[in-house]
Amino acid sequence: MTNIRFRAALGRVASYAPTPVASTGEPPRPLSANETPHGPLPGVLEAIAAAGAAVNRYPDARCRELTGAIARFHGVDAGRVLVGGGSVALLQALFQAFGEVGDEVVYAWRSFELYAELAELAGLRSVQVPLADGVHDLAAMADRVTPSTRMVVVCNPNNPTGTVVTREEIRAFLARVPSDCLVVLDEAYIEYTRAAGAGSGVDLLQEYGNLVVLRTFSKAYGLAGLRVGYLLAAADVVTQLDKPCLPYAVNTLAQRAAEVALGLQEELALRVEATVAERTRVREALLALGLPVPEAQGNFVWIGLGGDAVEFGRWCMARGVAVRAFAGEGVRVTMGTVRDNDVFLEAVAGWAGVPGRAAGRHSGEAMAGVDV
Ligand SMILES: *Cc1c(COP(=O)(O)O)cnc(C)c1O
Repeated sequence: MTNIRFRAALGRVASYAPTPVASTGEPPRPLSANETPHGPLPGVLEAIAAAGAAVNRYPDARCRELTGAIARFHGVDAGRVLVGGGSVALLQALFQAFGEVGDEVVYAWRSFELYAELAELAGLRSVQVPLADGVHDLAAMADRVTPSTRMVVVCNPNNPTGTVVTREEIRAFLARVPSDCLVVLDEAYIEYTRAAGAGSGVDLLQEYGNLVVLRTFSKAYGLAGLRVGYLLAAADVVTQLDKPCLPYAVNTLAQRAAEVALGLQEELALRVEATVAERTRVREALLALGLPVPEAQGNFVWIGLGGDAVEFGRWCMARGVAVRAFAGEGVRVTMGTVRDNDVFLEAVAGWAGVPGRAAGRHSGEAMAGVDV
């Protein structure tokens, strides 16, 4: 140990703990990180290889080609697009750019863990508003907005519960939040959403200058390993947010791969549809086993196991499947290949078959049958 003095905030932030991987034997089936099981979209590998020829040069700091492609895709001005080294880098910039130390950021809980950590590191006060039956309680969130609130983050679909709020609910929420308070819609999983009335908030950008929509190439587009995401916002928000982003943060390969992937919407839709079908199949199988699973709108399902979550995670790992357990709350399971999902369901059947684990005794049972 050294006697170096670190910022107190570091004592309140945990190191990121990826699901442990056995050092020997077969690696587990990776259903813990919400990645797509599909390899790169056609032509993406070739584009990466070709872009590799120029890696002695810095990337385009402005990501002009990709920014232009994203702007055309959404039908917005290029000045309203900001590309980042993963959407989490943009989230970090948001937390750093809005609010002086001690100001507040409102978000739901449980939601994406990183919101809490980025707030802590930026010196912002987190105001966590409990989910209601696993769903964002937007009315309660709007109630918690004060003159000190600089930003509200809404993860839609929510990670890890997989639930959504509708576009009308988002619109009503925006109407209630003061125009000087930013509303960030984190749409990392929006491509998988099928619920009636739910969908992207992109077309609300014209109406609300305080709206920011965050997207990623890590999930449906299958580029998690390259680190690239983007946001759409008012032009002056983009100009200011660019400042806390490191220059050259989006590498050449990522810029090129994302541009090519964005142009492959038909192929993308087929893959997304396959994952949506698996989600339905897996959820129904879990419900049939008596497990509490809310309606799932991302590329994952949430099982509200309460106090059994960690034990369930270990049970699956021992059977070769890595899932993400949230102690005392539940387990998030990414939709993998059909085979991955079958192996997972076999493990769950064994779990549910153990006497004393009859469905419904878990504290998470309130999550069952949530319809959104
Ligand atoms: C996976 C995920 C992201 C994406 O992060 P990247 O940095 O783009 O890989 C963003 N938000 C949420 C809620 C996520 O689950």
